[in-house]
Amino acid sequence: MILQLTEKISFEEDGKFRTFLKIPHSSNTSGWGSLLLPIIVIKNGEGPTILFTGGNHGDEYEGPIALRKLANTLKPEDIQGQLIIVPYLNYPAVLAGTRLSPVDGLNMNRAFPGNPQGTMTSLIADYVFRELVLRSDVVLDFHSGGNSMIFEPCVVMHELENQEQMSKTIAAAHQFGAPISLVLRELDSDGMLDTVTENAGKIFLSTELGGGGFVSPRTLRIAENGIKNILRHFSILAPSKETVPETRFMETPDIGGYIMASSEGLFEPLVELGGSVSEGQVIGMIHSLTDIDVSPVEIHSQTDGILITRAGRAHVKNWDTIAVIAADLDISKFEI
Ligand code: CA
Repeated sequence: MILQLTEKISFEEDGKFRTFLKIPHSSNTSGWGSLLLPIIVIKNGEGPTILFTGGNHGDEYEGPIALRKLANTLKPEDIQGQLIIVPYLNYPAVLAGTRLSPVDGLNMNRAFPGNPQGTMTSLIADYVFRELVLRSDVVLDFHSGGNSMIFEPCVVMHELENQEQMSKTIAAAHQFGAPISLVLRELDSDGMLDTVTENAGKIFLSTELGGGGFVSPRTLRIAENGIKNILRHFSILAPSKETVPETRFMETPDIGGYIMASSEGLFEPLVELGGSVSEGQVIGMIHSLTDIDVSPVEIHSQTDGILITRAGRAHVKNWDTIAVIAADLDISKFEI
C-alpha cells in the first residue's frame, strides 16, 4: 500500500501548507480508524530543500518540540528555499512514548527505504523516503538517547567515501554549532534513514542531544539554535551577526569506543558525561542483584577520550551498551 496525504500538496508552490499522512490503523476501539501524521511544508522561491525529522524514535523529544515550534512560527517570507518538517516520524511510537512502534514492534531507523508491502513502520518509511527524502538536498534527523541512554549533546555524521559529500557534511556539522560534532561508527547501519539518504547523495546530519526520556533547556536550545544555524548555512535564512558556537570534532574509535555491560546489575557511573577518561581507567561498576557478597564488576575504558554516552537506566543487562567513549578527530584528513 502506498500511503496518501489527506490534502495533496504540490511541493512546488510558494506558501505554508499543513497536511497529514493518512495511516490506516484498525484497532479494537476503531475498526476503520486512521492515524494522521503531520507534515508541514514552507516554501518561498528558489533555493535548497531541507527535510527536518523528529520522533524517528518515539522517546526522544528535542526534535519533536523544536520542530513543532519551528513549524508554528516560521513564515514563507522568512526563507528562501523550502522546508519540509516532520516532527513525529514514527507517530505511533511518539504517541506511546516508546522507541519502537507499538503497532508492529519495528525500529523506524532500521525500516528504510521502507516497503509498500510491509507493516505500518515500513509504510511510513516508504512514503518518507520516496516523497520527502528524494526531493530534498539536505536531511537533518533529530535524535536523543531515548529512555535507555544519555548523550553529551552532539551533531552526528558518518565517514563517507565520497570526499565532496564528506566535506559538505563536515562544513554543515561545523555550522550546526553543537558542543561536539561526532563522526560515528554505527554498530549496525542497514535500514537507517542516515544510510539511504547518504547513499542517495544528499547531505545528512543527525543529532544525539540528551536522552533519558526528558529534555533540558540546554539541549533544546542546542536543537533550536542548530536549526537556525543550518538554515543560515544553506542560505535558506538570511545571515546573522550571531557567531556560531565552537564545536569539537570527535569520533568513536574502531576499538574500545563502545563499552558493553559484562553482567546484569546496577550500574554505578564514576565519570560525568563529557568527562575525560584514559585507557584502563575504571569508569563505572556493576553491582550484582543476585549475590550480595560479591565485589562489583569494574568497567574499564579501553581508550583515551571523553565519555559521550552512558546508560540512562541504572539497571543494566548483559551486553547493553553502557558507555561510549569518543576521541578527538583531526578533520584536516577530509580535505575541507
Ligand atoms: Ca535515537
